[in-house]
Amino acid sequence: MRFESPTTTKAAASMLASESGAAHVLAGGTDLLVRMKMGMVEPDLVLDIKRIETMKVLKVAAGGVHIGGAVPAVELGESERLRSLWPGVVEAANLIGSDQIQGRCTVVGNLCNASPAADSVPALIAAGAKALIVGPKGKRRVGVEKVVLGPGKTSLGRDEFIEAVVLPARAGKSADAYLRFTPRTEMDIAVVSAAVNLTLSRGVVTAAKVVLGAVAPTAVVVPAAARAIIGTKLDDAALEKMAKACRAACNPIDDKRGTVEYRTKVAGVLGRRAALVAFERAGGSK
Ligand SMILES: Cc1cc2nc3c(=O)[nH]c(=O)nc-3n(C[C@H](O)[C@H](O)[C@H](O)COP(=O)(O)OP(=O)(O)OC[C@H]3O[C@@H](n4cnc5c(N)ncnc54)[C@H](O)[C@@H]3O)c2cc1C
Repeated sequence: MRFESPTTTKAAASMLASESGAAHVLAGGTDLLVRMKMGMVEPDLVLDIKRIETMKVLKVAAGGVHIGGAVPAVELGESERLRSLWPGVVEAANLIGSDQIQGRCTVVGNLCNASPAADSVPALIAAGAKALIVGPKGKRRVGVEKVVLGPGKTSLGRDEFIEAVVLPARAGKSADAYLRFTPRTEMDIAVVSAAVNLTLSRGVVTAAKVVLGAVAPTAVVVPAAARAIIGTKLDDAALEKMAKACRAACNPIDDKRGTVEYRTKVAGVLGRRAALVAFERAGGSK
């Protein structure tokens, strides 16, 4: 196995392109190293991206947020500005594992690991985040919702990697929220999760995005749940309609951590609660 730690994205792209065997990008390593130790992957090339300065950049501005692929999750919570602009994205990132895990792991690694239960992914999708992808032919931007194809599968080419994820400008009177259910308070993965990002005008929801995690092979965008709350002040009827849409969008697995019936029910509860948190953060009152 070859280990490389290039200092530019250009060098990283050419190393990936010239490797004919199994190449794996290494960010925090909190997924990759576990899988290597378990013998689930046997890389010919491990490409560490943490020495690439441009990938260590976290730039937070009202006009947009740039989260480099080598930025550890802990840094997101340390930015007061980011916490106030995108509280849902930050709370999702800061639910990953523990302090020790967050000191290493990245949200881009969380996305590329492609777990249906990944915490940051529903929040990034609800935020309208784009992935900045680097490959031999240059750079391209795609919506984060287009990156994960299924458990462990992404749409990235074998010679591509993600330089950063970018959050859009924050609209006035808008906010996001992320909630997950786990049997334990931490060091557990979501049984169900929900992210909501919404905008208000005179206390009425004018735009919304609702995304569920851990209830299908990929995070699920639920347009019907968003439609149920747009044009309302989140009265009970709108919230119940929203919860029903969340339940209808579920296609979960049945395992020891939750039955299909249980996950489906909890999806409605969490969708509803996340909407209420986002609504209050955006300045809404009931
Ligand atoms: C004890 C423990 C607890 C955990 N708890 C949680 C939890 O609560 N919630 C949760 O969602 N996850 C959890 N995880 C999983 C893991 O910590 C997260 O998925 C984490 O965000 C992965 O980030 P990383 O930087 O460590 O990724 P890595 O392990 O470095 O990489 C993960 C995958 O993404 C690829 N990759 C990484 N960066 C890039 C890039 N820039 N471009 C292309 N591909 C890339 C790698 O090749 C690899 O396939 C936990 C893991 C452990 C060990």
